[in-house]
Amino acid sequence: MFLKRIIKDEFALISLFFPSKKGISVLMYHSVAHNNVFFTVKPEMFEKQMRYLKNRDYNVIKLSDLVNLLESNEELPKKTVVLTFDDGFEDNYTNVFPILKKYNFPATIFLITGLVNREMNNSQNIPLRILNWEQIQEMHQSGLIDFQPHTVNHQEINKEEIINSKKEIEERLNKKCEFFAYPRGVYNNEIIGILKNNGFKASRTVENGKINKGDDLFKLKRISINSTTSFIQFKASL
Ligand SMILES: [Zn+2]
Repeated sequence: MFLKRIIKDEFALISLFFPSKKGISVLMYHSVAHNNVFFTVKPEMFEKQMRYLKNRDYNVIKLSDLVNLLESNEELPKKTVVLTFDDGFEDNYTNVFPILKKYNFPATIFLITGLVNREMNNSQNIPLRILNWEQIQEMHQSGLIDFQPHTVNHQEINKEEIINSKKEIEERLNKKCEFFAYPRGVYNNEIIGILKNNGFKASRTVENGKINKGDDLFKLKRISINSTTSFIQFKASL
């Protein structure tokens, strides 16, 4: 069964888009490093962004906290942000983790389990290394980093890809995985059904926008932060 519905490219530009002030921003990062990949944020810029959140008293909450708020249909708090990182690049350990520890900010990493300790290629043909299990364990044990499945191979999305990536993280980290991120933003009702039948509570798309009360938990929007995001745009996206 192949999916017909393709939403948007995962790395689509947001530069022309200024979301409203209302709602919670789920920020979507990929790599934080000095490479020339489109989705990559420079470490200096990432630090500047996190420092801004800290200095301006933004509340950085866990994805699970946001899901609990939506499930209970409560009013969403203001000045609140969720940090997510897609794919699980090794620089999330070397460049992101120290900064998150410094500011005590929680984050979710959507991991491609089949690429652990291997390289992932991209459309620009600049392969980037994915985390290894030792690094993943250390980040998990810090209590700050929540690993969640993002399929095994980041190719097709089907029941096997979903369940096997979930299982591997659950077994290796001895935790329960309840959140998913659609690779390249591809999903349909069948995929949502598979997630619901296999213990998932929510899933993040690559559609632009903030989260508001009443939003569909399996169609959570996000705001992409990438190499094209200026600091002014970052501030405007909160
Ligand atoms: Zn991805």
